[in-house]
Amino acid sequence: MVSVTVYDGAETIGGNKIYVENGGSGVFLDFGMNYSRYNEYFNEYLCDRDTRGIHDLLQLNLIPKLNIYRDDLLTSDTCGCVRSYARPDVKAVLLSHAHMDHTGNMGLLDHAIPFVASSLSLAILKAQQDVSRNAGTSAEAAYVKPRVPGDNPLVCGSAGTKTPSVGRDLYGLTEPAARLHDLMAANPLKSKPYRPGHIGHLSELDLPFEVDAYPMDHSICGAVAYRLKSPDGTIFYTGDFRFHGENGSQNMDRLVAGAREANVLIVEGTRTGREGDHPTTESDVYEHCKAAVDSTDKLVIADFSARNFERLEMFARIARETGRELVITTRDVYLLAALECADGRCRMSNLLVYDAISDSKSGCDQRLVEREYADRLLSPMEISRNPGNYILCFSFYDMKHLLDIKPNDGLYIYSSSEAFSEEQEIDHLKLFRWLRHFNIETRGIRLATENGRPEITTEPGYHASGHIAGDELEKFIDRISPDIIIPVHTTAHSWFTSRFHEKVRCLKDGESFSLN
Ligand SMILES: [Zn+2]
Ligand SMILES: [Zn+2]
Repeated sequence: MVSVTVYDGAETIGGNKIYVENGGSGVFLDFGMNYSRYNEYFNEYLCDRDTRGIHDLLQLNLIPKLNIYRDDLLTSDTCGCVRSYARPDVKAVLLSHAHMDHTGNMGLLDHAIPFVASSLSLAILKAQQDVSRNAGTSAEAAYVKPRVPGDNPLVCGSAGTKTPSVGRDLYGLTEPAARLHDLMAANPLKSKPYRPGHIGHLSELDLPFEVDAYPMDHSICGAVAYRLKSPDGTIFYTGDFRFHGENGSQNMDRLVAGAREANVLIVEGTRTGREGDHPTTESDVYEHCKAAVDSTDKLVIADFSARNFERLEMFARIARETGRELVITTRDVYLLAALECADGRCRMSNLLVYDAISDSKSGCDQRLVEREYADRLLSPMEISRNPGNYILCFSFYDMKHLLDIKPNDGLYIYSSSEAFSEEQEIDHLKLFRWLRHFNIETRGIRLATENGRPEITTEPGYHASGHIAGDELEKFIDRISPDIIIPVHTTAHSWFTSRFHEKVRCLKDGESFSLN
């Protein structure tokens, strides 16, 4: 019998943890962090405690109550109950793409569970973990820093510097390239030994389904959908997707053909619940951003999500066309170099690297730049001399570097998500203070005063969503015509039921649907 259990992400945007079982064993589709539920309890300064293993997350019901987690994360007061939980026979996690709301809790899972993903996603997992020095146990998706029992049995202690970090067993959807093996084997820390895991191909695994993957257009490269086939039924999982990016429409027909025989479609619905949604495409974004850069001869700052490599390439093109040079951070360089290890495509041509003032260059990203791109380094003083020659890829967290560049004016383009959390609103107010301090104008985001209170709004045209819009999604589902639709990654189940009626199974977190 085939069954689908949505452990998390059924009624929120992200946090997908979907278990699909066939005859007693199964696979997880993603094992992400549920930010909306985390943010009900935590913020930047109040986090779950790594020293307590998975204790805090279990107590707050932020991860499923299953016996599938790393032994070294079980303290004396969690071990007994975790051992009493159900232990599904998880053969693998199939990762749709490398956004944290799909990967962010993979680090907690038992080391014996292999992870499957596209080569690009595997490269991003490793590179992202390498450059995030203090990301926490949950994010240990590519390799694990084992915890050791301390004198206090309630504490998962940090291992000493002699204990190696241990790579997970990772499987590509295509045969991993030699350079991807090298990336996975590379020790990110000088101070600690590292033992790489096995890097293989999906075909090496004995899974309870025949698995096919379909490249998807999303706001991160390497995204895929999965078709899981068995004699008892076929499941199709879209992950996050859209068709309005550069390569979007090419994927549509192939995807529909692959999904058409599915009995069950597990589909994202991020934008179904959004009112006043702007139908902006990537080419609209290009036009708007290009016009903005054309309109000024001053310093330009482009702010977009760090992992939106398609957007980065768009700004590289705009820089070329406007006679400027694109300047990226060392972390961006590290991620771009990792992508090249996966698919052999060089994304670094004509890019310069911001040489931040710091007393140590010991990070793996800084070491890579020193080794291979030292001739591309650009100091803040060089930018100050000719600010109009550059487009700087900076986010809010890079604003401190403006204190070294000391611009007198400039243009900041916000080309990122239009949905803000409360925390982001607060950060945006601070962002505006930074920009005003340096007399920098903005595009893509506005600050106004409404009834004496500051209000931040986005300006349409400077960002295209990574997700399919409601009307297009409706057509897509119509073309596939599945027997059953399970919505996930959405806050609007009613959007689905009002259109597809009895075909829709609105599961709550932890509920299952079985195909008989
Ligand atoms: Zn997502
Ligand atoms: Zn995503």
